[in-house]
Amino acid sequence: MPSVFSRIVSGELPSAKVYEDDETLAFMDINPASRGHTLVICKEEHPDIFTTPPHLVAAVARTAQKVALALRDALDIDGLNIVQNNGAAAGQVVFHYHVHLIPRWKGDHVLRPWTPHPADPSELRTIAERIRAAIKED
Ligand code: AMP
Repeated sequence: MPSVFSRIVSGELPSAKVYEDDETLAFMDINPASRGHTLVICKEEHPDIFTTPPHLVAAVARTAQKVALALRDALDIDGLNIVQNNGAAAGQVVFHYHVHLIPRWKGDHVLRPWTPHPADPSELRTIAERIRAAIKED
């Protein structure tokens, strides 16, 4: 069963498109967090960052920057959040790799989804070491 985004790519479902190339598509989110909230997807269906081939992650990043510049120039934004959810625990609802571009204006009420708190420096070093040991070279 193709994802809702694959059905947009195939033209079966409508979308308000802003950019398209061979590998990626950008279109407006139907339930926007703010005016101009845009999604960038890779056309090929892969569930998340863990499973998407690196060249498509790179293609989505390139398109995200292109659209970010257009949002800046078209909507006079003060800032931009780039959000990318992976897994239900992280709030992912559509399991087709995508990036959210969320325009921000001073004083808007779009909230940060976490509450920052100071970390224990030795714990940071321990976690960094575990992550470093798990990094795989290309
Ligand atoms: P996520 O939680 O990262 O999986 O977010 C999925 C996003 O896709 C949500 O912000 C939805 O509003 C958006 N969405 C779902 N269906 C559509 C659709 N048919 N067209 C545009 N955006 C959609």
